[in-house]
Amino acid sequence: MITLPPRNQTQPYTNNNFTMTKFHVVFISTPGIGNLVPLVEFAQLLGNHDRRFHSTILIINMSQRPIVNTYIQSRAATCTNIRFLHLPAVDPPSPDQYQSSMGYISLLIQNHKTHVKSALTNLMSSESDEFNSGRVAGLFVDMFCTSMIDVANELDIPCYLFFASPATFLSFMLHLPTLDAQIPIEFGDSDTELSIPGFANSVPPLVLPTAVLNKKGDAYSWYLSHARRYTETKGIVVNTFEELEPHALSSLAMSLLPRVYPIGPVLDLNGPAQWHDPNRYESVMRWLDNQPTSSVVLLCFGSMGSLSGPQVREIAFGLERAGFQFIWALRDPPKSQLDLPSDPASVDDILPNGFLERTCKLGLIFGLVPQAKILAHPAIGGFVSHCGWNSILESLWYGVPIATWPIYAEQQMNAFEMVKELGLAIEIRLDYREGSDLVLAEEVERSIKHLMNSDDVVRARVKEMREKSRMVLLENGSSYQALGALTEKLVPKI
Ligand code: UDP
Repeated sequence: MITLPPRNQTQPYTNNNFTMTKFHVVFISTPGIGNLVPLVEFAQLLGNHDRRFHSTILIINMSQRPIVNTYIQSRAATCTNIRFLHLPAVDPPSPDQYQSSMGYISLLIQNHKTHVKSALTNLMSSESDEFNSGRVAGLFVDMFCTSMIDVANELDIPCYLFFASPATFLSFMLHLPTLDAQIPIEFGDSDTELSIPGFANSVPPLVLPTAVLNKKGDAYSWYLSHARRYTETKGIVVNTFEELEPHALSSLAMSLLPRVYPIGPVLDLNGPAQWHDPNRYESVMRWLDNQPTSSVVLLCFGSMGSLSGPQVREIAFGLERAGFQFIWALRDPPKSQLDLPSDPASVDDILPNGFLERTCKLGLIFGLVPQAKILAHPAIGGFVSHCGWNSILESLWYGVPIATWPIYAEQQMNAFEMVKELGLAIEIRLDYREGSDLVLAEEVERSIKHLMNSDDVVRARVKEMREKSRMVLLENGSSYQALGALTEKLVPKI
């Protein structure tokens, strides 16, 4: 049984003395920063765009992700039209039920179905209040929460997919069942490049997500199972915009799928500055204030990214030789399959002898950094990134070019898109796989020098995209219009 927080208002929602009908939408996300943050921002955007919409976000707790709770606590304090509801804990999947973290998370989410049904039933049966009109206009599930489509169907609630990755990756997922049938061997063993509708170029199998490169693994089965269910939804909201991914979006629009709504970029520009050590934030900003414009390179590998000791040392030598100022988010590998990387207790043992002394005027090394705030600073001139989609959107928003260093999830495909499809990034690697690849110091040095070159054509294209990423959100911009079309569809037809 789920207890709703006490209601603090039973009056109808009014504006200028006119009573407005309220629409309640409910969201559920995978418990990870890269999934949850854009979903929360989208809920906020929906309410800002049309004040009739109020949101409840159902939270799945995962003990290995305390960072998610810290984020929710801080975000709950600033959200006006969003309520967060923690679902009761369930027994975690037992080790014999899964092989991969994808398997674990998909099962954990699936095990919450009864609680989600009970939460939705409660919301629909309780009297109307500030948030709740007694009806749920839509349930938004994210890319790995497809088991909740069953719950929406049982309760006759329209179900939508919220997709926090690019339209190219959505296109790949929708095409995966076809590829699975067409190519009976491992994709990595096939010597032909793949034709995927959302990509203008053929795609080398080596940039597919690691999970997809092992068809015998449970992660592959889960990817297929999630992908198959996307078409059961009433619409797919993608955190992207027409001007960024025109080819992928037009190919999706031409297919017989649920309608795709590119409403992005939705970004949390305050980022972890809000939910991490304020002292760290202050010291980074003070240091940046003293650097010349576009002189500093940021290296950050996502909320789940870490590199081996030998790779860290190659980066260190490469950075030193490149000679640019730097901020480096350096993290220790996770202790177990389900854990996240941690901030290193000490970097002395990881870095080459004397590196810290030699570079003390050149750069800063931290664990997690307030990435969005750092990218916003005029001193930042380039970004060595793992190519998570939120990071890509943040860098485009601030016009900072990326050098690609993908590590996990769909990042190799994102890197391929940015370099080969869109010409918006510089290639360090497209198909890096931690543990079986090593980027040498000379490559790091060369790439950083290329990235920081102020005359580079990629830099000019990124600056153009910066303007477009802002225009699309303005009234009559493409994302604004897509959001308008979505709200029309969400409004229940009486
Ligand atoms: N992030 C951050 N500091 C870090 C690592 C990550 O602020 O040290 C933020 C980053 O700004 C982005 C999010 O965490 O908003 C990561 O999302 P993304 O999709 O880029 O990658 P993921 O972590 O999901 O792989």
